[in-house]
Amino acid sequence: MDILLYNSAHREKELFIPLQEGHVGMYTCGMTVYDYAHIGHGRKYVGDDIVRRVLEHAGYVVKHVQNVTDVGHLVSDEDEGEDKMEKGALKHGKNVWDVAEYFTDHFYSSMDALGVLRPTIVCKATDHIPEQIALIETLVEKGFAYDTAEAVYFDIAKFPAYGSLFGGQNLDDKKIAVREEVQTGSFKKNPADFALWFKRVGHFAQHTMHWPSPWGDGFPGWHIECSAMSMKYLGETFDIHTGGIDHISVHHPNEIAQSEAATGVPFARYWIHHNFLTVDGKKMSKSLGNYYTIEQVMERGYDPMTLRFLYMGAHYRQQLNFTWEALTAAQEGLAHMRLLVVKVLAGVAEGDGANDEKIEESQKEFFAALCDDFNTPRAVGILFSFLKEAAKDPAQYSSEAMRGYITACDAILGVGLEGGIAKSVEVIPEDIQALVIERDVMRARKEWLEADRLRAHLESRGYTVEDTVHGTLAKKL
Ligand code: AMP
Ligand code: ZN
Repeated sequence: MDILLYNSAHREKELFIPLQEGHVGMYTCGMTVYDYAHIGHGRKYVGDDIVRRVLEHAGYVVKHVQNVTDVGHLVSDEDEGEDKMEKGALKHGKNVWDVAEYFTDHFYSSMDALGVLRPTIVCKATDHIPEQIALIETLVEKGFAYDTAEAVYFDIAKFPAYGSLFGGQNLDDKKIAVREEVQTGSFKKNPADFALWFKRVGHFAQHTMHWPSPWGDGFPGWHIECSAMSMKYLGETFDIHTGGIDHISVHHPNEIAQSEAATGVPFARYWIHHNFLTVDGKKMSKSLGNYYTIEQVMERGYDPMTLRFLYMGAHYRQQLNFTWEALTAAQEGLAHMRLLVVKVLAGVAEGDGANDEKIEESQKEFFAALCDDFNTPRAVGILFSFLKEAAKDPAQYSSEAMRGYITACDAILGVGLEGGIAKSVEVIPEDIQALVIERDVMRARKEWLEADRLRAHLESRGYTVEDTVHGTLAKKL
């Protein structure tokens, strides 16, 4: 199955051809673990999860590597200001190591709640200091880096391609950024040069995390960890590198420059950049404080799968503005889809399969949409239209084909189309499941009278009804 993906390195859609047949090496920039993961992160990592699941559906074995930034990321991506981990330690009254551990756990449990598959390899920057030092040594030896009293810097003048990466860097903007926030960088030859190794001097004299190095005690710059760890686990040249669009201007050009300067061969071949989840048009972010965590969303009574469904309603390269109304609409949409699934599966139990080719057709269209630059809104639309039609007359399909299609769709969407209703220890008959989901649809629409009527109906059928974040939980009395 051919996959077309928008390669932001060349700014066009390209046919994906892996380096090694049947295998994909994919590196995803992970989180800086100094504060809570929020639903903006959720959008980005669900986006990566879809990429991975589509590749796996297409038959590839995906080696998915993701880093955890637990050192070296300064408040500005241009290596200026304080260290984010130290800032997090002050804010949360913990030491930096505890902050890192606490927010790494929080990040992965948040992603678990959103159904994001765990990466094949999770690697922490602090566990890979020798690899980063070795890479910096190579850069120094090859003349791409220079040592100063405050840091070892990458010399972008030695890497002429730098200015044209991702369609061109506005180096003048970087000069302005540096002038405005001169806390480090006074030893840089060029304002866009970036730190590979910070020394524990001056501004960073009290820095908590530090290691010995050939250039003195200190800590790595943010960008070098991604080059060192991606190449360690995936090789000097690998298939796919992903990140948020904020990484196009600084972090990813820096990764490319330092990797290719060190190895002399191309770094990642395809670059995927996810657009933001915004609030009132502004990026949802830890620093702006305009964020919600997954727990906060669940506390308001939403199933986390509703968030996943909301994200998939927009293409990953489009901005998506978060509102509670949009989330409620997604909740209703998902409950409706689950209801259709229950109805269709109940109806095909006696089905004759006379029109199974329609299933095949829809399935082809569904996967074609996903293989065309991961077009989730189109794929969800195709599935919705098909289920609405099928629910009118399910008996024309066979149970096997229908169940196969729904299971295959959900292997990628991952929202729990079947049995997405609150889990129960006992098996609930399909007509009761349909009532449960119908009640969730009514609750999402805030049609409380109708929801109450359905509760009474369920109770009269011998079930207790409980409201949970995953929706209605029905249990046999
Ligand atoms: P951070 O830890 O803030 O560097 O974020 C880790 C990843 O999440 C980066 O690739 C960011 O681009 C991405 N990210 C952060 N906030 C958002 C957001 N509001 N929407 C989408 N992606 C985000
Ligand atoms: Zn990175």
